[in-house]
Amino acid sequence: MSLLTVGSVAFDKLETPFGKTDKIIGGAATFITLTASYFVKENNLVAVVGEDFPQEMIDTLVNHGVNVEGLEIREGEKTFFWHGRYHNDMNSRDTVDVQLNVMEHFDPKIPESFQDCAFLMLGNTAPAIQHLVLKRLKNRPKFVLLDTMNLWIDIALDDLKALLKDVDCVTINDEEARMLSGDYSLRRAAKTIMAMGPKTLIIKKGEHGALLFQNDDIFYCPALPLEEVFDPTGAGDTFAGGFISHLAKTDDLSFENMKRAIVYGSAMASFCVEKFGTERIQDLSQIEIAARVEEFRKLATFEL
Ligand code: AMP
Repeated sequence: MSLLTVGSVAFDKLETPFGKTDKIIGGAATFITLTASYFVKENNLVAVVGEDFPQEMIDTLVNHGVNVEGLEIREGEKTFFWHGRYHNDMNSRDTVDVQLNVMEHFDPKIPESFQDCAFLMLGNTAPAIQHLVLKRLKNRPKFVLLDTMNLWIDIALDDLKALLKDVDCVTINDEEARMLSGDYSLRRAAKTIMAMGPKTLIIKKGEHGALLFQNDDIFYCPALPLEEVFDPTGAGDTFAGGFISHLAKTDDLSFENMKRAIVYGSAMASFCVEKFGTERIQDLSQIEIAARVEEFRKLATFEL
């Protein structure tokens, strides 16, 4: 099944306890589409960059089978820039600087050939832009996944609440779930957020895995305990990309299949954090992915 992703394509500057980078390639939609390239053939991107964005990276996306017909390059403008600094636990971070640049006036255009996409991934960007993409599709996709962040809960809550009514599933981290629901208990927070619209909710807990909620059902998938976490940037996007592209590949929206999708998402995220930026997820094989998923099976299966 076809997948359409919207979200940031960016320059990131990163500081972790293990090192620093200058401007490297990042952005939610970059991580998502690279991840999806291991699962789906129709991997469509809608995003905007400035004329400073390197052609080699666009070529890398194309070489991964990403359809970049919906990637707008704005002459005379600069690409979105994010500077993040991780704390020693690598689970929390501060935004040191954000320069919206091209994102400030992003008017997403959906190419005609993307119109009948079956799966829509609303990767991190302003909720009003995410909503525009959904509204500009002539036919509603069969599954819409929304990823968002604390910034939008802080500065665009009304837009976010309007969007929540129109999506099927949300990925959010534990701190954001508590912010959005006003409840400390994640189980109650999940109920409150699902009452805002989405029938399915995923609460990400960084190195402590992820929880999947639907009606009264809950499933938990751990994160792989890695010896070294190098850079967590993009782990949430990679997770979401693995989750939705497994669903798109299998075209099965049952809760049982969502459990498997969460394992694929977690497996892909475990690769992402092994190197800086998108480096690791640019260079994976199906054999490595299958072996990683098997590690998850061994880690989390038990018999009574
Ligand atoms: P994650 O670590 O999965 O939360 O995603 C990190 C990516 O999100 C980075 O590559 C950033 O470029 C991107 N990002 C950070 N802040 C924003 C924002 N306000 N809007 C869109 N993308 C963002």
